Amino acid sequence: MAGTSAPTATEPRELIVELCQQFYAQGWVSGTGGGISIRENGRVYMAPSGVQKERLRPEELFVLDDAGEVLEAPERGKLSACAPLFYNAFRLRDAGAVLHSHSINAMLATLIHGSEFRVTHLEMLKGIRGTGYHDDLVIPIIENTAHECDLADSMAAAIEAYPKSHAVLVRRHGVYVWGKDWVEAKTHAECYDYLFEASVRMKQLGFDASKAP
Ligand code: ZN
Repeated sequence: MAGTSAPTATEPRELIVELCQQFYAQGWVSGTGGGISIRENGRVYMAPSGVQKERLRPEELFVLDDAGEVLEAPERGKLSACAPLFYNAFRLRDAGAVLHSHSINAMLATLIHGSEFRVTHLEMLKGIRGTGYHDDLVIPIIENTAHECDLADSMAAAIEAYPKSHAVLVRRHGVYVWGKDWVEAKTHAECYDYLFEASVRMKQLGFDASKAP
């Protein structure tokens, strides 16, 4: 187990394996759900569907081109149903990495907000590119579907409608988060997760995180 220290790998295949172990430890990719995809030099690296992310090996990854065509496939395994969702952020935001988390904090945050997650005046806002302490951070929340791939169109529409957001929440499900590279995607995912938890816990204590103090 890699723990929560900075990854030591630099090659995308090894990086994904290491990051998945960290995300598993955080409860973001348990039960085979969630994961991270990295895009580098016109190649997209992605875990297959339904594998235990904490036991993933570098040779088990798919490699695709920018158009979504498979360049290298592992011996076993099926391409993830999340692929079109990861490609939304690659295509519409020029993302270098996209992370999908089934974090309990993200899921709970979608229960206490309507069509938008909103917080302000929290220090961790500064970890999100383009956002300061006094700003309103707004993330669109889309409704879940029975099959993950059916989220692609509503996720794309939400990305277009919220050009400042680096994430889309999915009701009763989790969150998609991206960044210009895997470092920024990881930082964004950690800061967003903190903000999701803060919003839920502040509500329990009678505070409204969406309003300035
Ligand atoms: Zn999911």
